[in-house]
Amino acid sequence: MSLFEMAKIPMEKASKLINLDPNAEAVISQPERTVEVSIPVKMDDGHVQVFTGYRSQNSTILGPGKGGVRYHQNVTLDEVKTLGFWMTTKCAVAGLPYGGAKGGVIVDPRKVSKTELEKITRGYIDKIAPLIGEKKDVPAPDMNTNAQIMAWMCDEFSKINCQYEPAFITGKAVSMGGSLGRNSATGRGVITATLEILKREGIKPEDATVAIQGFGNVGSWTAKIAKEKGLKIVALSDISGGIYDENGLDPYKVEAYAKEHEGLIKGYPGATAISGEAVLEQKVTVLIPAAMELQITAKNADKIQAKIIVEAANGPTDADADAILEKKGIPVVPDVLANGGGVTVSYFEWVQNLYRYFWTEEEVEERQEKMMVKAFANVYDAAKKYNTTLRVGAYIVALNALVEPMKLRGII
Ligand code: NAD
Repeated sequence: MSLFEMAKIPMEKASKLINLDPNAEAVISQPERTVEVSIPVKMDDGHVQVFTGYRSQNSTILGPGKGGVRYHQNVTLDEVKTLGFWMTTKCAVAGLPYGGAKGGVIVDPRKVSKTELEKITRGYIDKIAPLIGEKKDVPAPDMNTNAQIMAWMCDEFSKINCQYEPAFITGKAVSMGGSLGRNSATGRGVITATLEILKREGIKPEDATVAIQGFGNVGSWTAKIAKEKGLKIVALSDISGGIYDENGLDPYKVEAYAKEHEGLIKGYPGATAISGEAVLEQKVTVLIPAAMELQITAKNADKIQAKIIVEAANGPTDADADAILEKKGIPVVPDVLANGGGVTVSYFEWVQNLYRYFWTEEEVEERQEKMMVKAFANVYDAAKKYNTTLRVGAYIVALNALVEPMKLRGII
């Protein structure tokens, strides 16, 4: 089964539960538009290398497409379509006036020079320029892309249109119109979702222990905000392995250690070294996968001992594992809800750029929290009403948001 087919399973379940018009499901099941582009780049040694890029615009029913651009040697169209589908759902669940989209370029950014990376980036924007724009489709960073790459994209798109185009892209540096609070936004939202599920389960934050897989942007901010909120982090991992301390790890100290050790947490003093897999299997209150797709599968789902899972990464749990966890009675706060804080603050960046009026960090955080708490309640209530999982509940919320505008606009 392709990743895209797997991703649609909870939507199909939700669709049955709410007796969704089959025409609506048929429309949402396919991206509105996918493009594959070739990007010829004159490399530093003079030879021309042709890179492949994709953009999948899954839905523009609720507004412009919205979604990041990923640079990775293994990017596929199936992956980009899936991530775009999740963006459609995520934006609808978060209550944002956006559709969903995603892009990718097949490149290992570690294997090209900075000049080559800039040329690839500008070439990608040249090729997809007719499809993107502040009212059409708004890109953002994703795996291996950052504020520098967004700046090149913004510059290239501004040149093409002969006008400054800050609102066409989010995840920019603050000096270029980026929003305060964006770096921490996804992790902050993950912890808002964690506190909401703990409340519903009758567990006090100070009684909760946490294990987090992944210590990049999302994992490290999730850990830092978890600590601020009084949760005890007992296990952390990154690509180099895991660390455990039953008395609690200080994420600020772990981060400082990682900065001095090539960004990796391996060897962090005072903690017990454990394997990355073992971090997923700790007896904790909350397990937060914050690394990448397909980490909880039929192979390890039975070994999960956490009381609750909050998905910070996109698609960390596969369909088989989802069924096993449901049987075990472990609630999973799904990615399309839990990591929606990032796109929510991207939305705030877009709004601020459109108005050319900027908010304080406190305003951003306050508005983000309000939207996340509301989104969580909508999903939780839908899951309770239809006696289903939170993941299917999230799809119920998204489908309900999409179906009426589809009817009113005459799409179905
Ligand atoms: P990142 O590249 O900054 O960090 C990824 C982390 O995962 C790194 O610490 C890496 O060492 C670790 N990792 C990789 N493979 C691992 C493995 N097998 N075991 C343990 N750790 C491993 O990426 P990020 O921006 O933090 O994104 C993480 C996830 O969150 C991705 O699924 C991404 O799509 C999703 N996400 C990110 C954002 C955002 O705002 N950055 C928003 C929504 C969703």
